[in-house]
Amino acid sequence: MRIAIIAHDGKKADMVSFLLNYKSVLDKIELVATNTTGGLVEGAGLKVTRLLSGPIGGDAQIAAMAAEGKLDLIVFFRDPLDKHPHEPDVQMLMRICDVHNIPLATNIAAARLMFKGIVKEL
Ligand code: PGA
Repeated sequence: MRIAIIAHDGKKADMVSFLLNYKSVLDKIELVATNTTGGLVEGAGLKVTRLLSGPIGGDAQIAAMAAEGKLDLIVFFRDPLDKHPHEPDVQMLMRICDVHNIPLATNIAAARLMFKGIVKEL
């Protein structure tokens, strides 16, 4: 199982604390992340492959992985109260998830529900 994680700046702390709740499950999951999000997650002691930072193409890299069938789930904690220079990439990523039927959690409540399912599967 491979999961991509992305968090806008205002949501990065939420991402780290969310993932730490699932530390034992994450041992069995390959995590890939945009660069800054990945750095913080790594700093919290989790193993993660870091791609480019979101604003310079990281979201697009994750969308490409989704299109190629390389991702089982994307957790993308967006900050709806902030502006993002790479909004077109964000929209593209969400569209690609719908095109390829990839589950996409854009907030903690949705991510919790999806992880409940994952915990049962593993
Ligand atoms: P970052 O990218 O993890 O490199 O900050 C996230 C984003 O804003 O898409």
